[in-house]
Amino acid sequence: MSSTAHIAHYINGQVTAGTSTRQQDVFNPATGKVTGQVALANGADVSAAVAAAQKAFPAWADLPPLRRARVMFKFLELLNQHRDTLAHMITAEHGKVFTDAQGEVSRGIDIVEFATGIPQLLKGDYTEQVSTGIDNWTLRQPLGVVAGITPFNFPVMVPMWMFPVAIAAGNTFVLKPSPIDPTPALFMADLLKQAGLPDGVFNVVQGDKEAVDALLVHPDVKAVSFVGSTPIANYIYETGAHHGKRVQALGGAKNHMVVMPDADIDQAVDALIGAAYGSAGERCMAISVAVLVGDVADKLLPKLIERTKALKVLNGENLAAEMGPIVTAAAHQRITGYIEQGVKEGAKLLVDGRHFQAQQAGEGCDHGFWMGGTLFDHVSTDMKIYREEIFGPVLSCVRVADFAQAVQIINDHEFGNGVSCFTRDGNVAREFARRIQVGMVGINVPIPVPMAWHGFGGWKRSLFGDMHAYGEEGVRFYTKQKSVMQRWPESIGKGAEFVMPTSK
Ligand code: NAD
Repeated sequence: MSSTAHIAHYINGQVTAGTSTRQQDVFNPATGKVTGQVALANGADVSAAVAAAQKAFPAWADLPPLRRARVMFKFLELLNQHRDTLAHMITAEHGKVFTDAQGEVSRGIDIVEFATGIPQLLKGDYTEQVSTGIDNWTLRQPLGVVAGITPFNFPVMVPMWMFPVAIAAGNTFVLKPSPIDPTPALFMADLLKQAGLPDGVFNVVQGDKEAVDALLVHPDVKAVSFVGSTPIANYIYETGAHHGKRVQALGGAKNHMVVMPDADIDQAVDALIGAAYGSAGERCMAISVAVLVGDVADKLLPKLIERTKALKVLNGENLAAEMGPIVTAAAHQRITGYIEQGVKEGAKLLVDGRHFQAQQAGEGCDHGFWMGGTLFDHVSTDMKIYREEIFGPVLSCVRVADFAQAVQIINDHEFGNGVSCFTRDGNVAREFARRIQVGMVGINVPIPVPMAWHGFGGWKRSLFGDMHAYGEEGVRFYTKQKSVMQRWPESIGKGAEFVMPTSK
């Protein structure tokens, strides 16, 4: 008998094995050991989840928003009780350090707090007397069954960018998490049930492309929210739109941090170390390019080299850890390939994370997917390590002459997720925020992930679709506007009208 967990689906309020026999190993990246097998759904499993969601929709949508909000309040209470359980689950399957996982859970909880305000968020507007005896108002109604397809790097927070808002707005939901870290989704499903969410309102189908494709073509799925890499985001957007769905598809990134000559160098070094190597660089808002303006490189690099070498790369369960392992052996190989490529293309390798010895990470880590932080200098914009998303603990330094050149290279990049500028000059900061072609901007803030009520989204090939995730944009995404115009018999004039109605 296997001692590893079988990680199944959650459909109509029940954990279910589904009908597919395909499955995939789940690893603890710190030890390299297999800890479970996750089921990979087929079309029939997806249909069962969508059918459950479709059946639950009318009653859930009909419930007053305040009563839906009360379920969210209860869910919030339960989440707060189980914060650390969720964080441990994240560390066990993703590898990120426990304190970072706690932060992820916290940022997810922020969205649930936002969603509890749904009665206020769904308030429509009203104009009395748009014409004599006629009133006009707008309201927002839920779409129906909506799907969320999420990446490995935030197995709790990214699903929570989606389902709390979607469900509070009256939709029912099918989540397809990453098969790399599938367990937290089931735990959240259980907490939702405990919170009083009716069966079928929230469902989880585990799986890969087969499950995603079934969701994209299913006629009862009205909208798809996706977060992941750009090629898949592009595919999801095109395929979902082709099948008549509303789609928001958030993609990959190459986030730059500009350090101006007047910046506080120690603050800039702190920011780069945390933002480049935190979560082993596996954040869509990680800084992967430092743009060093004028003479900054000579002041900053000696400190950055020292700090990169001193990173505490340890098993994420160790509270002293600053960086954990890479998520999978395949990702480890991909990142190693990029480092080789950078050397080949002539970038100067200042710190080489490939030399890191797994046993330094702690007991039992010998077979984990380990590497240290890597730092390149003299990276140019034509290099592959500059153009492509590496999604690992590799920071590339690009030297530029001035502010204008810094802005230009960022605006020329195909991605536009996050960006940051470190300076003491208010005018430089203002100009930067105005001119930069990037969706989320930090001024002396390295990772400017917007708070729950502001909404998250990049520009260019970092987001396909019109609306950002969560915040009021999220409420708009998960609802459709209806305009109602009314008059009553006493105010109706005589005779048919053949001209365009105007205000009388
Ligand atoms: P990924 O694109 O490989 O997978 C994302 C989701 O798509 C998963 O659920 C996966 O099972 C599914 N999927 C994978 N291949 C598919 C295919 N061929 N057809 C259909 N579905 C498929 O991404 P990942 O490796 O899990 O996550 C890392 C990526 O996500 C990075 O590129 C990162 O920048 C990006 N990301 C972006 C944001 C953002 O907000 N813009 C946030 C987090 C992560």
